[in-house]
Amino acid sequence: MAGRRLSPAGDSYAGYRARLVETLRAQGIRDLAVLKAFAETPRHLFVPAAVRHRAYDDTALPIGNGQTISQPFTQARYLEALRLRGRERVLEIGTGSGYQTALLGALADQVFSVERVRSLALAAQQALRAAGVANVSVLVGDGTLGWSAYAPYDAIVVAAGGPEIPPPLVEQLALTGRLLVPLGKRGAQTLTLVERDGATLRRTPLGGARFVPLLGEHGFDA
Ligand code: SAH
Repeated sequence: MAGRRLSPAGDSYAGYRARLVETLRAQGIRDLAVLKAFAETPRHLFVPAAVRHRAYDDTALPIGNGQTISQPFTQARYLEALRLRGRERVLEIGTGSGYQTALLGALADQVFSVERVRSLALAAQQALRAAGVANVSVLVGDGTLGWSAYAPYDAIVVAAGGPEIPPPLVEQLALTGRLLVPLGKRGAQTLTLVERDGATLRRTPLGGARFVPLLGEHGFDA
């Protein structure tokens, strides 16, 4: 697992973070590595100053450009379904604030994240640096095309809702990889787990979700 970051001294948010972790546990999150990632990742560094006082509420928050940082519980459920064990190479589509990128960095070996909005990608890179997260790379571009340079990925996480599984992501998924993607309409999707076994894909619906739209060549029209 990647080396961690927070100096306990001067981190006045530690108590709030501990409470958030208790909330997640109370809602049924059991994976200890996931709970530890939430306990160690400074969400307040990833939200705009105007909403920082709510950084550890279990709620989605605006991050600018009409985008949101997802609700921690949703992200925790998501991360549990990936069953990361620390050695994986992960691709994330939709960096947003970079918070989930940081959580993935705590749970996997290397994270590659693609964000289509340049200003969000830059802010996320800054926050990731401030949080001391060193094992993630951010690219500005259309994530529905994946990031072929570092493929194959053991896990792929799509943080925006699309109409279909973007074919390049299946191509870039390892032969036994897991892909999580919200599929459906704008505003209402089903979180879907896609497990690859060679040429076979098994889809498992994991419940309803509402993500911002996945825009791009294999997503919705911008
Ligand atoms: N999990 C993030 C929130 C992601 S919001 C967090 O913790 O903050 C979804 C993000 O996906 C938005 O930033 C949006 O700009 C981005 N996005 C939408 N379509 C995309 C695409 N085709 N490629 C890359 N990013 C995309």
